Amino acid sequence: MRIPVNSINGWHPMSLGLSSDPMFRCDEETSLSSTGEATEVELSKKLIVLLSGGLDSTTLLYFLHAHHQVVGSLSFDYGSKHNHRELPMAAYHCERLGLEHTVISMNFINDYFQSDLLQSGGAIPEGHYAAQNMKQTVVPARNAIMLSIAAGFAQSQGAEAIAYGAHTGDHAIYRDCREEFLRPMAEALREGTESAIELLRPFVTMDKAAIVKQGSALGVDYAQTWSCYKGELLHCGRCGTCVERKEAFLLAGVADPTSYQK
Ligand SMILES: [Zn+2]
Repeated sequence: MRIPVNSINGWHPMSLGLSSDPMFRCDEETSLSSTGEATEVELSKKLIVLLSGGLDSTTLLYFLHAHHQVVGSLSFDYGSKHNHRELPMAAYHCERLGLEHTVISMNFINDYFQSDLLQSGGAIPEGHYAAQNMKQTVVPARNAIMLSIAAGFAQSQGAEAIAYGAHTGDHAIYRDCREEFLRPMAEALREGTESAIELLRPFVTMDKAAIVKQGSALGVDYAQTWSCYKGELLHCGRCGTCVERKEAFLLAGVADPTSYQK
């Protein structure tokens, strides 16, 4: 099924910087006009959305659900300090949208990997997300592992693509969030699966504020999302991802519904 994008609730991919982005693989049949604007989008591709329960992936879920054929979502429980806060948020949105939500357990990461993000690691550092001390929260090769599992899951579910909420705010210390990694990973997944699973990252040219703006327009309830790495009862407001969350709402001009610790 193909429908003109201009007719979809005023949504236009140019506002997201998508139409000229070859990484937005789900519209690979998009035809471009002389101004470079997409005129139509292929909607038939079946997608699995990688959903953590945070701002970016939750927005991605609503964005793709609005315009594409999302056949399910996938989360991972890998023993991070905040998994038990994120996963119920992910489940909430899937239930709201009537989507199947699968959680794959990866306890081995907490058991054998070194990172302060994990329950087995040290304290979560405070400060800006881009600060060097945030390196302590990197889980080595996490995304390579998750994306590989997601590709195998997608093929087994009869899906044709996996969608991941990578964006421009993913800093240099998080090496496996960046295009330098995701581009060859996408190629590897496509070449390495019988059904040539695509790795979609439609937000890759957007920053977190633009994502919040987009989600706000789609009616995403951000009170039902979780960012804080500490995983306590309320967002701490001081760790890198809390600081980034606050910044995103401020820059987007959207009221932040998060309850932060005093
Ligand atoms: Zn925090």
